[in-house]
Amino acid sequence: MDTILVVNAGSSSVKFQIFAIEGDGALRRQLKGQVDGIGSRPRLRATGADGDTLADRAYPIESIADVAAALTVAGAWLRDERRITPLAVGHRVVHGGPDHDRPVPVDHGLVARLERYTALAPLHQPYNLAPIKSLLANLPALPQVACFDTAFHRGHKDVADQYAIPHQLYDEGVRRYGFHGLSYEYIARTLPKVAPEIAAGRIIVAHLGSGASMCALQGGRSVESTMGFTALDGLPMGTRPGQIDAGVVLYLLTTKGMRPDAVQDFLYRECGLKGLSGISNDMRELLTSSDPRAAFAVDYFVYRAGLHAGMLAAALQGIDAFVFTAGIGENSSAIRERIAEQLGWLGVALDRAENAKHSLKISQTGSRIPVYVVPTDEERMIAEHTLSVLWASRFNAKREKAS
Ligand code: AMP
Repeated sequence: MDTILVVNAGSSSVKFQIFAIEGDGALRRQLKGQVDGIGSRPRLRATGADGDTLADRAYPIESIADVAAALTVAGAWLRDERRITPLAVGHRVVHGGPDHDRPVPVDHGLVARLERYTALAPLHQPYNLAPIKSLLANLPALPQVACFDTAFHRGHKDVADQYAIPHQLYDEGVRRYGFHGLSYEYIARTLPKVAPEIAAGRIIVAHLGSGASMCALQGGRSVESTMGFTALDGLPMGTRPGQIDAGVVLYLLTTKGMRPDAVQDFLYRECGLKGLSGISNDMRELLTSSDPRAAFAVDYFVYRAGLHAGMLAAALQGIDAFVFTAGIGENSSAIRERIAEQLGWLGVALDRAENAKHSLKISQTGSRIPVYVVPTDEERMIAEHTLSVLWASRFNAKREKAS
């Protein structure tokens, strides 16, 4: 059966999934896996559609020293042991810059253009591009598709897309891009199926995971995001501070004399829940800790979520529904309950029993604003995009040949 390989590569792990293309074009998840511990304790793990273990093996550090090597190991395992040779590969690429409002086929020119955005997403972009480059070099005939986290937000109005800085910087690409777009696009496409009564309305979607943001959806399209030029802005995250006065960065550079790369490292890796609690970036750990700093980090997260929801409600001029998704949003009834309390003034009333069960709809029948939990699936979104781009390029190739 034909398959699509989805690759989501980070600095220390390469996650991958295989989707089988059914006769009617539907996609069925066949397996998921990851190579983690790259450069430290490399390990390949994979599970089948039912969660059954397909692989769990350690590798010597020198055999998987970087992201490209991790993909080579995963690719060899898929080919030699699972007999899978995918029809195409879809990649998550965090930054598509100002020009990309949809996924695109990969070629050398695209990679060169995307490399320009490395400074805007230093912890993601180079690692997203590494497997693309490696496949271009080693399997040039294999179709690849780049799917961007920024693309879904490209239709924002100018007032939502700009900072109050001279226009020349906007023209250079200093814009409020917004991220987690593949997740929001998946939710926007899923709502008509699971909650048709709200799908066309004004919705705030809260993607609360190790990275966290909110998106204002209107008629299934993104109109505002809490994230901006980089994925540092907006809500506090596992290790990123979220919204912060640019003056703090100046203070670190001048008064504290920190080097720019140290400031970058600090902002991406040492702040957020980890920085505030001094304990962990993991919400589960903070919720079970008895340390008052852990409790404060959770209080801060909840408070800021409420503030940003208020901002997006203003962008939408009122809201018709609120949706939770991603690791914290899908799994933590405690955090959902506390954020819902913050949204009481907007007309949110949670149903505690439904919330505890992680039901689809977790608000009371009489709640003015209904609240939902909708699991996200960025990998499926990438697989769907990859298949569409593949079909479109085959169709265009046939048409060109015929004309
Ligand atoms: P993600 O990046 O979407 O995988 O989400 C990761 C975050 O979700 C981490 O902070 C986890 O601690 C958090 N998370 C996952 N399950 C739970 C849970 N049951 N309760 C609280 N937080 C959770």
